[in-house]
Amino acid sequence: MKDKKTPEFPATSMNGGFLVYGSPAIEETEIQEVVACLRSGWLGTGPKVAQFEEDFKRYKGARCAIAVNSCTAALHLSMLAAGLQPGDEVITTAMTFCATVNAIIHAGLKPVLADIDSVTMNLDPEQVAHKITERTRAIVPVHFAGRPCPMDTIMDIARHHGLKVIEDCAHAIETEFRGQHAGTFGDFGCFSFYATKNIVTGEGGMVITNDQEGAARIKRLALHGMTQDAWRRFGDEGYKHYHVVDCGFKYNMMDLQAAIGVHQLRRIEPYASRRQAIWDRYTKAFSDLPLTVPAPIEPETRHARHLYTILVDQARCGIDRDAFLQAMTARNIGVGVHYLSLPEHPFYQERFGWRPEDYPQAMRIGRQTVSLPLSAKLKEGDVDNVIRAVEGVLHA
Ligand SMILES: *Cc1c(COP(=O)(O)O)cnc(C)c1O
Repeated sequence: MKDKKTPEFPATSMNGGFLVYGSPAIEETEIQEVVACLRSGWLGTGPKVAQFEEDFKRYKGARCAIAVNSCTAALHLSMLAAGLQPGDEVITTAMTFCATVNAIIHAGLKPVLADIDSVTMNLDPEQVAHKITERTRAIVPVHFAGRPCPMDTIMDIARHHGLKVIEDCAHAIETEFRGQHAGTFGDFGCFSFYATKNIVTGEGGMVITNDQEGAARIKRLALHGMTQDAWRRFGDEGYKHYHVVDCGFKYNMMDLQAAIGVHQLRRIEPYASRRQAIWDRYTKAFSDLPLTVPAPIEPETRHARHLYTILVDQARCGIDRDAFLQAMTARNIGVGVHYLSLPEHPFYQERFGWRPEDYPQAMRIGRQTVSLPLSAKLKEGDVDNVIRAVEGVLHA
């Protein structure tokens, strides 16, 4: 790991360095926009954030978009705006990043996990149905790796039981299910622009919704619970008093971040094509290896191809997952794990009594999964190196 550079200034394997996992493509236009933003002196929430919200809303076809400083914040505020009450049960997947469930806990709600479908790695609607009690109030589907959840079935379950739906779209900016954008099925859709995601602002997030009242509440809660005028109180129309009408948070996005986002969003299609080309090269190269590669993409869906995950089953590969991770690192290829299932973590075991064995699909996949580099930044030579490293490790 001694070659590992900071993610902001990655070496690639093209020049003999370490290929950093999840390193984003950053181009000159956003660099110039950030410089312009610095020169303007307006760093905080202002015109660039308003533009990014406008552009994102149009891209997704939602009525409202509120930019915040992370997807974790987006999830937290969506839970609050959904009007859920302390102790209400919220069902989500055992195979997600800890932020999904931490946001549920921070909102004073009780997370309940459901196991995943072993092929799609998304929430299994049948398992969701099993977990519904009279205290269940919401479902938080996660479009895992960019593959859409079966939103027809999930929305049927939600409607039947009167549940709110908050979609964790951290992997799913480009995702569509039967022609409809991920994040527009439920009450709220939450997005991430963290440094490893498909488009980036460094840290950053967005909530989309068609509920104007909910959007206004989220906007307020993202800035201390102050009335709307607070966003403009330093403008040229003269000082405006604000009033605190809610106990809010400090979750607003900065113009400095939005300056990156507006240009990244414009490049979403060329980036998506590049990710798809890399994805197809991996799938072709690994077809004769004893690995499990991502399942084919379902008809009438768009997969955002956020993660390319392979399963390393020791019985078939002759090497266990953790040894595989070490061997890839030794070959200068950065790899990721998305994710150990949530019940593997001590905090949740102690707080909720969760046990990995109770979610067998998420447990098995979490113990076998490896994410390979998949970024619009990768050159063909980088992809060659990843493929050679995988073949080398398995043949060693
Ligand atoms: C990255 C991620 C988050 C959190 O996003 P941040 O913007 O880093 O807060 C939430 N859920 C999932 C599934 C993620 O991958």
